Amino acid sequence: MQSQPDSISVLGITYTEFLEHFIRVTGKKDHYARPLYRQIMAKGIYDLKKATAEFSSSNGFKEKIFNSFDAAPLLSCEQEWISENTKKIVFTASDGRKIESVLVPMKTYKTLCVSSQIGCVRKCIFCETGRNKLIRNLSAGEIVSQMYYVKHILKEPVRNIVFMGMGEPLDNFDAVIQSIRVLNDRFGLSLPMGHITVSTAGIINKINELRTLNWKKLRLAVSLNACTDELRNRLMPVNKTYPLADLKACLKEYPLHQNGVILLGYVLIKGINDSLNDAERLVSFCRGLKVRVNLIPYNPCSSSDFQIPDPLGYNVFYEYLIQNKIHVITRRSKGSSIMAGCGQLGKNA
Ligand code: SF4
Repeated sequence: MQSQPDSISVLGITYTEFLEHFIRVTGKKDHYARPLYRQIMAKGIYDLKKATAEFSSSNGFKEKIFNSFDAAPLLSCEQEWISENTKKIVFTASDGRKIESVLVPMKTYKTLCVSSQIGCVRKCIFCETGRNKLIRNLSAGEIVSQMYYVKHILKEPVRNIVFMGMGEPLDNFDAVIQSIRVLNDRFGLSLPMGHITVSTAGIINKINELRTLNWKKLRLAVSLNACTDELRNRLMPVNKTYPLADLKACLKEYPLHQNGVILLGYVLIKGINDSLNDAERLVSFCRGLKVRVNLIPYNPCSSSDFQIPDPLGYNVFYEYLIQNKIHVITRRSKGSSIMAGCGQLGKNA
């Protein structure tokens, strides 16, 4: 499923952008533009001959469309690994690079974790992707293709998308924002903003840029993992540029819709950030913020010798947060045996 050279990939553009190209290509504002975009994006018919089969228009008109647009996903799918109903999907891009997505079953729906970069410059010590230098950013079309493939070709009922796969989404800001516009487009995939989460290591200037879009329903997640600058500098070098006090000040200003919260990711690592003192510091960081803590047991990866927290230590930490009225989500890590858990993607890139 590779694009024809020089054609416009429909998967990377919104309906409004598609319409502009459509008018330019066909020479007129045609009433076929909206049904065609719907056929491709909402119904998953990416073969343009099939998508236009019922259009009673001249062959010359259709030829212009075939020659100018490409609706196929920009990624082909090579492998799927399944463990505990969690599916890791390994895509291949047109340059041969591997891109991983993970489909996670929740109680009544599925969440797709998508990648935004191949490799990452941020080098978080607990993360497999961070071991690889940044190879390149994904295009908006490549990001949307992950969702398109899983929804329309694998026929999986995806309800939520989280940008928590390979890469720091805010380091690929323009493509990520464009992909959100496409995912959200009401004439296409129509994914509500409230079902999309962008997760960041805490790139403050880009969080502020995101803020200016005023997308109050878009969900923001911040990977925190430590509440002293000393430890966070060690775990997440990004903290040297954007220290904790500045991060907290930035999150205080972040606009949220009514009842909205910021998700704070905290990967619990045995003997590193799982003491009661750490829990106290986390409670103190949360004070004054509208947050929910996502407490995630560390998943082993080849970049460090860290260990999984023992269940007792995890429970003590959790209970301390609860006693201090912190809203906590506990998530048993799914898919770690197939390297599909948090921080485990990217070994194949
Ligand atoms: S956790 Fe995210 S930001 Fe950090 S190295 Fe991994 S992909 Fe990059």
